[in-house]
Amino acid sequence: MAESLVLRGGTVVHTDRLAREDVLVVDGKITGVGIDIEAPSDARVLDASDCLVGPGFVDLHTHLREPGGEEAETVATGARAASLGGYSAIVAMPNTTPAIDCAAVVAQVLTLGRLTGIDVQVAGALTRGREGHSLAPMAEMAALGVTMFTDDGMGVQDSGLMRRAMEYARGLGVVVADHCEDEALAGTGSMNEGSLSARLGLEGRSALAEEVMVARDLALAELVGCQLHLLHLSTGRSVELVVDARKRGVDVSAEVAPHHLILTQDLCSTYDTLFKVHPPLRTQRDVDALRLALADGSLDAVATDHAPHPPQSKDRPFADAAPGMLGLEQAFALTREALGGASADPIRIFEVLSRRPAAIARLRTHDARLGGHSAHGGDVEVGDDANLCVVDLDARPIVDPERLASRARNTPYAGRVMQGAVRHTIARGDAVVIDGEAQR
Ligand SMILES: [Zn+2]
Repeated sequence: MAESLVLRGGTVVHTDRLAREDVLVVDGKITGVGIDIEAPSDARVLDASDCLVGPGFVDLHTHLREPGGEEAETVATGARAASLGGYSAIVAMPNTTPAIDCAAVVAQVLTLGRLTGIDVQVAGALTRGREGHSLAPMAEMAALGVTMFTDDGMGVQDSGLMRRAMEYARGLGVVVADHCEDEALAGTGSMNEGSLSARLGLEGRSALAEEVMVARDLALAELVGCQLHLLHLSTGRSVELVVDARKRGVDVSAEVAPHHLILTQDLCSTYDTLFKVHPPLRTQRDVDALRLALADGSLDAVATDHAPHPPQSKDRPFADAAPGMLGLEQAFALTREALGGASADPIRIFEVLSRRPAAIARLRTHDARLGGHSAHGGDVEVGDDANLCVVDLDARPIVDPERLASRARNTPYAGRVMQGAVRHTIARGDAVVIDGEAQR
C-alpha cells in the first residue's frame, strides 16, 4: 500500500490555469487539491513552496541499454536518473542487444521496469533485429501493451517496408515512430554538414539526410492513414514539413531533444566526442527555429534521447566515437531555458514534458496488461493516479558529471548552470525523489 503524502505551498499547473494549492495523495491517487488542505496525521509533508506542481514528466525517448549494454545503463539506473529528472514514466527504446523485437524481450524489459520506482513502457522494433529487412512481430508485442514501434538508432531505409509497417500499425492501432536519417545521404558523417565541418576536416551529415526521410514518412503516413511520430527533429525545415503535413490532415506528432534546443554545431570545434550525436547538433538558426516551434505548438514534445555510453565508446577519434548524450536529469531546466527561462509559460512546460508525450505514448489512461502502467499527464485533479513532479524555479544547480545517477558520464552539460531543478517526484503514489535525492 502506498503512503499518504501532501505537497504544501506550491503552484499547481493545471491544463488551463495556475493555482496556489496543496495536493493530497493517498494510496496512489490524488484525493485532494485545494488551499490549506487537511491531511491525515500520518501523511508525509513535502514542501513545495516556490515550486510548480504538475503531472510527472513522460519521456518518449530513453535508451536504457538493457539487455546487452549494462555497462552503460540498466533499467534500474536509467529509471533512477529519470525520477531525478522529474519523470514518472519513460519509454525505453528497442536498440538493445538483443533488440526489443519480440514478445519475450518486451516482457523481459517490462518486468525489469516494474521493479523500478516509475512506469517503464517499451517501444518495440519495427523490423526484426532492427535490421530493416523484414517486419518484426508487431501484433504479439502490441498484445503486451506496446503502443509505439521504431527502429530508433536508424531510420527504416526501405520505403516499401516502411509502408507495410505503417499498414500493420494502422491495423493494430499503434504509433509508428521514426529516426529520420537517410543513411545513403548521411553516410559516415559525424557532425552537421557545412562550412564548419569542412574546416574541421570532419565528414558532414547533412540536414537533407533528415529532411528527405521526414518528407517520405509524412507522405507515407498520409497515404496509409496511420499515426506517425517523428523522433528528435533537428532542423527548421523538418518542422516546416510537419506543419504543412498537419494542415493536410496527416496524423503526425514530433519531438525535439534538449540538446537540439540548447547546443550548436560550434561545440564540435573542440573535437570533444561528448558533442557527437545523431542527428547532429545543427546551426544557431535551427536552434532558434526549434525553440519557436516548441513554444507555438508546431513541435509537440521534448524527449531526451538519453543515450548513455561507456567511456571506451566515447574516448575515440570524433569520427569513430559512438553518437549520443545523456539528457534525463537536466531536461526540465533545459526545456525551461529553451522556452524563455524566467518568462517560460509553466503550462507549456508541462505540456511538452508531460501531457503531450503521455498522450502520444497512450499513457494517459491506466493499462492493466503486462505493461501495467498507471495514468500520466493528467490535470492534477482528485481521482487522478498520483504521478507528479515538483520543480523549484529558483534553484541554480551546476551540472557535475560525477553526481549523475546514470551509470554513464557522457553529459555535454558539465559545469553548466541549470535554470531550475526537480525537488520532488511522485510516481504511482510514492515519493521516489525527495529534495532532489532518489529514494530508491
Ligand atoms: Zn534516434
